[in-house]
Parts: sequence; structure tokens; C-alpha cells
Amino acid sequence: MVSFKCKDIGMDCDFKATADNVQELDEQIARHAREVHKIDPLDKEMWMKIHKAEK
Ligand SMILES: [Zn+2]
Repeated sequence: MVSFKCKDIGMDCDFKATADNVQELDEQIARHAREVHKIDPLDKEMWMKIHKAEK
């Protein structure tokens, strides 16, 4: 299991996601970024931050 919190990348947001693997987690994060933060697509720098924060 892997999980991610928006707070871990410094966002003022209570979003938490959990998935079986990183691919699924990335999909959830991409959807959340698009729907809530209006960020689409996430750039390379953001993904680097996100991947560091995933555990
Ligand atoms: Zn968020």
C-alpha cells in the first residue's frame, strides 16, 4: 500500500489518497489535482515532489 497527502507537498488541503501501487495512486492524485486544484497536467517538478511524498 502507498499513500499520499496533499499537505506533504505544502498544499493547504486535507486530501489523502491510498492505493495498492504507485500507478493507481498517481492516477488518483492527477484526478484530484485536476478537479480540486485546477492543475492539469501536473508538471515534472510537481511529480517529483509528489513521488518524494508518496510512501
Ligand atoms: Zn489537494
